Amino acid sequence: DDSSHYDFVIVGGGTSGLVIANRLSELRDVTVAVIEAGDSVLNNHNVSTVTGYGRAFGTEIDWAYQTEDQTYAGGGKQTMRAGKAIGGTSTINGMSYTRAQKAQIDAWEHVGNKGWNWDSLFPYYKKSTRLQVPTSDQIDQGADYYIDYHGKDGPVKIGWPRAMTNSTMLPQLDETFQRLGLPFNRDANGGSMVGLTVHPNTVDREANVRHDAARAYYWPYENRSNLKIISNTYANKVIWASNAGSEAVAIGVEVTGVDGIGTIYASKEVILSAGSLKSSVLLELSGIGNPDVLSKYDIPVRVNISTVGENLQDQTNSGLSYEGNALWLGSPTFSALPSASQIFGDNVSDVASLVNASLADYARAVSKYSNGAVQEVNALNAFQLQYDLIFKSQVPYAEIVLLPIGHSFSSEYWPLLPFSRGSIHIQSADSSQPPSINPNYFMFDQDLSANAEVARYVRKAFHTAPLSNLVGEELAPGQERVPENASEPIWESWVKSNYRSNFHPVGTASMLPRDKGGVVGNDLRVYGTKNVRVVDASILPFQLCGHLTSTLYAVAERASDLIKRRYIF
Ligand code: FAD
Repeated sequence: DDSSHYDFVIVGGGTSGLVIANRLSELRDVTVAVIEAGDSVLNNHNVSTVTGYGRAFGTEIDWAYQTEDQTYAGGGKQTMRAGKAIGGTSTINGMSYTRAQKAQIDAWEHVGNKGWNWDSLFPYYKKSTRLQVPTSDQIDQGADYYIDYHGKDGPVKIGWPRAMTNSTMLPQLDETFQRLGLPFNRDANGGSMVGLTVHPNTVDREANVRHDAARAYYWPYENRSNLKIISNTYANKVIWASNAGSEAVAIGVEVTGVDGIGTIYASKEVILSAGSLKSSVLLELSGIGNPDVLSKYDIPVRVNISTVGENLQDQTNSGLSYEGNALWLGSPTFSALPSASQIFGDNVSDVASLVNASLADYARAVSKYSNGAVQEVNALNAFQLQYDLIFKSQVPYAEIVLLPIGHSFSSEYWPLLPFSRGSIHIQSADSSQPPSINPNYFMFDQDLSANAEVARYVRKAFHTAPLSNLVGEELAPGQERVPENASEPIWESWVKSNYRSNFHPVGTASMLPRDKGGVVGNDLRVYGTKNVRVVDASILPFQLCGHLTSTLYAVAERASDLIKRRYIF
């Protein structure tokens, strides 16, 4: 029956999956199905409301994945949020649109992913977006941009919220951070991110709604007869052709839908875009992964790739907050992105030496944690590269989000490139059972002390004029909990009891050469398969300094062209 046979079957109608669905269905003679566990959220106010960040948390559209106990972080579990909806996590996220540092994307090519570098991705950052040029009021309030960095007619609308924070705020923040040595960055989206910036959001300014992946890539195209979203349907695993030769050939996906279990057939390809806490799980359930993991649940091994589900990288988020001395209206989009030198000042070379001297230990620990699935030499190479990015390229070391809202002035911050590495693995052959998710937050002391160090920097900023004149008492952590000049252990204990996931998990199906621990190659095809790709945050081999959707949209746009090229040229 036609309703279960397509050329391309995409698992996950989220941020990345909808890009692929849209671009492939531009080809009139191919048929595309998207299997999505969630449903439409077009009329869900928790999604559309521009100031509604957080309202969707804990509702039916939040997967709210639970981690294992975080033994290095005081023991408790963490909740890792992700959207379960047509539009995926872009429907519940913070809407910040910042890309990455050029050197980080170039690193993808340096480690062996031919063709993936800043210059080759840049046209896709632009292709995916449309800048809504700020109004003169918005420019007064600090919106700034270089037109060459931005797309003119791409699907995702980016720009500043209709109501921005009052124009007196930016000059005062700028003066404060200049005193700390941080320059103003007019537009952080050109590959150079360091500085204080007023970044754009993924927002439709005229309609005054969030512009998520569904509004950008799906709803305007929903009438395409060759594009079908199969919603409220859960993918269980990939189904393989029985007479597979040297490469495994996917013929479809087993799903549990409203009518029970069935198969959606794919004559060309299956593309996994279920997110970095799901796509690698689907690979394992389908027999692609570490034989030690699969054999525990009697899953026959189709392709032995021991690193499936390894390399899980996330950041940790904490915040300081203050009483405000004024009433602030509008949606702030101020971010400070200082480099390691700007945070550590004169101590930076000591910190760099300490980190450098620890890289071999980190690599050994990560390999050991994975029972050897991650080779020590590969972990070490990745850490050396990360060290170079932080201390030589001087990419941003932390993001500090400044939030003057109502009568309070709060902040959120996260060190951008932690060294901790975790994993996600199945605990059952039954796809309805949750996997074991362990980000290993604060696995290394350096990651914890980075949090403490950035917290001190944030407090210093709030104590520096003119910002210091805008705020009163410190509400969190507060001088009682963490006194002025508190020692590092006191800051660290506060961090451990207050941090949360920064909701940026990446790396669980890394794009890397196979002998370097990769799960997918530079065409995003899973090694050992003929026609299964992963296109979502799982494939990012390293954490980024930007928020993720910008890069995911660009990666999915480029992936769409790679896929099309295979079939039409
Ligand atoms: P997703 O967008 O999560 O898509 C995966 C899709 O697959 C989902 O729709 C899901 O329902 C579906 N799915 C999963 N499993 C199955 C299955 N078995 N069967 C069928 N369907 C399935 N990024 C930014 O750029 N800016 C921000 O301000 C920002 N803030 C964030 C705030 C929060 C609270 C969170 C959680 C994330 C935030 N991020 C932000 C990160 C960013 O939104 C995500 O990294 C990104 O959206 C992930 O895209 P993806 O394509 O990898 O997966």
